[in-house]
Order: sequence, then C-alpha cells, then structure tokens
Amino acid sequence: MSTNVLKFGGTSLCSAEEMINAASIASSDGDACAVVVSAPGKRTSDDEKVTDLLYRACSPEADRDRLIGQLRDRFDSILRGIGKNIDFSDEYEKIRLAAARGDVPYVVSRGEYFSARIMAAITGYEFIDAAEIIVFDESGAFFKKKTFLAVAARLKKGGRYVIPGFYGADGSGKIFVFPRGGSDITGAVVAAATGADVYKNFTDVDGFMFADPKYLKTPRVIVEMTYAEAHFLASFGAGVIHGDAVLYAGEKNVPIKISNTFAPMRGGTLIGDVPPCKTVRGVAGKRGHFGKNVSAVAVCFGGDGDRAVDRCREILAENGIGEKFVLSGGPGVVFAVDDGDFDGAMRLFAEKL
Ligand code: ASP
Repeated sequence: MSTNVLKFGGTSLCSAEEMINAASIASSDGDACAVVVSAPGKRTSDDEKVTDLLYRACSPEADRDRLIGQLRDRFDSILRGIGKNIDFSDEYEKIRLAAARGDVPYVVSRGEYFSARIMAAITGYEFIDAAEIIVFDESGAFFKKKTFLAVAARLKKGGRYVIPGFYGADGSGKIFVFPRGGSDITGAVVAAATGADVYKNFTDVDGFMFADPKYLKTPRVIVEMTYAEAHFLASFGAGVIHGDAVLYAGEKNVPIKISNTFAPMRGGTLIGDVPPCKTVRGVAGKRGHFGKNVSAVAVCFGGDGDRAVDRCREILAENGIGEKFVLSGGPGVVFAVDDGDFDGAMRLFAEKL
C-alpha cells in the first residue's frame, strides 16, 4: 500500500471555500495518510495572513482585544462557511494571556492549530496536535530523532490524520516554532518519518519556477529537479518551498511533488532522484543577503559549470553590473552584487539564461 503526505499552504486554506476544496483534494487521494496544514493566508492582495496578525498581537503596543476580535471573526466566518460549530472561546482567552506574557511561539502557532481542527472536522480524519509529535529541545532546537520516533509511533498504518504545521513542543509541552514558512518542514518531517511514497506540497503557484515571475513575462515551471538543486534555489530566495523541507525529504529519498491547489492538473514540479540538469535549472536571489547592501543572485546549473559561469559574467559585464565576489559550489554559483543592481541582475538572468 502506498502512502502520501499532503501539505496545504495558507492561500489554499484562506477561507471556508478553499478549505473545502483542499479537503476534497485530500479525500479524493486514496493514499493520503496525513494532511499537514498552514494557517489561513491572504484572501486578497491587501488582506493579512493569520500568522502575521498573531505576530502583531504579541507586540507590547498592540491593541490585543481588537486583534483577537479580528482573529475570532476570521475563524467564525470559516466555521459558518463550512457549517460546523467548534467552540474556540477558551483558545482565544489562552492566546490573549499568552500574548500578554510574551509567549510569542504559542500565540503564533495558533493559526495552524485552528486550521487543523477545522480540516479534521471537514474531512473526518483524526486531529493530532503537533505538540505531541514534533519535538524541540528546551532551547528551541528541533529534535529530529525524537520527532521521527514520535511520528512513527503515533501514526498508525491505514489511519488518516490532520496535523498542524509550523510548531511543536519540548518535553514540558512548551511550544516552539520553525522559521516562517515552516509548515513545509512539518510536512517533510512527517513524510520522512512515515516513509511516505510522496510528499505532495500544494501551493498557490504552478510549481518551482525557473525564476521569480516578477522578473519574467512568461515564467516556466521546472518539471523536475534534484534535491540539491531545489535546496540550493530555496536557500537563495525561491519561496515556493522551505529549503529545510527539501533536506528532510531528501535524506529519506521521499519525492516531493509541488502542485497548484487551484489547478492541480497543470503538472507541477517533481523534486527527487532525477538526472541533474545539463543546462541552467533556475535563478533565485536574496536582497541584502550578504548584509551591508550586498545582495545574492544565485544560478543553479548542471553540465558545463564553467561555461555557465562565463555566460553569467558576460551578461553582468555587458550591462555594467559589477560583481563584488562569487561563491561557487554544489549545483550552482552565487554572485554578490550591490542592492541597487539586484533587480537588474535578476531580470537579466531570468530573461537571458
Ligand atoms: N503560518 C506560518 C507562516 O506564515 C507557517 C507556514 O505557513 O508555513 O510562516
């Protein structure tokens, strides 16, 4: 019997309608054993992610009652939309108290907690609190070995579960969180610890893009890539999946399939044990990555690396962009450029490589 772990990002869960859509994708996957969820994301471009609202509620100057009122309205509207009545009143009070005493990880983890309770109610799958199975040590470092044992012991063969992403707890039950975007990591860890056949990561774009769509009129999706290539580009700013998620899945050879929740038929990206690329796989970048106004522009390639580096250098030189230094290693090269040259370098590489 094969097993899949599914993970849905915030845009895929931003409203009742989207949650119902995600639940139906999960229910129609006969091999889904666990569904890992993010907190509800933005419904429109000027909306706020639930996690951002929760971070704001932790600020000492925050108007906490108003923000927690907004949180309640958001989840009340989702609950009305799905026609379920889950009483979260005690939870809002716990959030208010935790925010007042400065327990930021607890507060910001609640978006995922509510999301998972709601997804469990829609799908009928068993809810497992991530605090039970995703283990951190008392200093807040992720405890991989204990987590793998806890996940393998708690998830039974043939069971179907919903698990909140992003957080876990230490032995005393204190909540800790992964970095932002960390629900991807939870999904990968659950997939690796259960020996899943595929880690299906559902998001709001068609897959891993050759370059940030901001810099390309018609961005193309990378159909397949190795773990090393995906990790390299994710570490240098490609935001479609967290780099650590690629590492955890890669260590156990679990293929990652990235798909668009709103158009799953479009093919997406497979990250796994595939042939390394022969030309340029993709481009990514991080503004201010090297501090002091120095940005990183990363190009991932296979085949003749020297030729690819020469071509990148030519493109920069022809356009008057100076490189401060170059790092190479793994499946690519990273050019350090002035912040002011960042957009230009990204656009040139995206268009010309
Ligand atoms: N909700 C968290 C964030 O916004 C974690 C996640 O979505 O992956 O960073």
